[in-house]
Amino acid sequence: MNKPGLPPSEWGVVWRRTSLIIIASTAGSWVISNLVMMALNQGMNDVGTILALAMPAVLGGPILLFLQIRSAQLREANRRLELLASTDWLTDCLNRRAFTSRVSSSLTQTAGHGTLLVIDADHFKTVNDRFGHERGDEVLQLIANAIRDNVREGDLVGRIGGEEFGVFLEDAGAEAADLAAERIRAAVNALFISSEGLAQRLSVSIGGAVCAGNAGFSELFRIADRRLYEAKRAGRNRVELGGLPLGAMSAALS
Ligand code: GH3
Ligand code: MG
Ligand code: MG
Repeated sequence: MNKPGLPPSEWGVVWRRTSLIIIASTAGSWVISNLVMMALNQGMNDVGTILALAMPAVLGGPILLFLQIRSAQLREANRRLELLASTDWLTDCLNRRAFTSRVSSSLTQTAGHGTLLVIDADHFKTVNDRFGHERGDEVLQLIANAIRDNVREGDLVGRIGGEEFGVFLEDAGAEAADLAAERIRAAVNALFISSEGLAQRLSVSIGGAVCAGNAGFSELFRIADRRLYEAKRAGRNRVELGGLPLGAMSAALS
């Protein structure tokens, strides 16, 4: 049979469901046939038994298999659409909408434990002006890779603006977040682009907000963005995480 682009796990679901339904309908067919024959005061003969057992699989099997394959194809298409709708086309990170929504869910699930980083490429306009927009796009991909390479598997990475990325480090406190942000900063700063005698070292500035209370995404973002601005003002290519976690900061101010 020509497998219509389904992953092996979906084929497993198709065969399992088809077999289960056929087994259930075969049992049902046998019970009903016996009851009917008993009601008619006639015993069930061999031919009747064979028909009762074989008919569900013979008549229903192919149709059932076809319907299960169609429904698996729909599930797979939905999964791909969801992935497409939540992925940034250039960098393969989450797009802004998906990033915001996943960080919000994570904050709810972890009772607000984690750190949000806002990462902005430094002097990116100069990169475009000197090397062209296409090369600028490649640089954004390099930066995205450097970010992904320096966070844990489950951390969320999104492209939240033109040359701006967001990272949510689930369950990370100030110390772990500072280490991760510093790793990202150093990894990007180790990158160079050059062309026709021009060379430029890349860098990013990073602002962060450590959450230890019940802050929502917008509050965390506002603080991280303000710290990003401070990192830019202090000379770029630096990390600004602030001293206190957000929960402690709110408590100290009240
Ligand atoms: P700063 O260090 O203050 O952040 O300076 P900057 O030049 O990075 O910031 P500015 O906001 O002045 O410029 C951002 C630039 O990023 C301008 C814009 O053309 C470029 N940019 C935004 N999105 C993309 C993109 O998808 N591809 C490319 N190649 N460039 C982009
Ligand atoms: Mg910038
Ligand atoms: Mg920017």
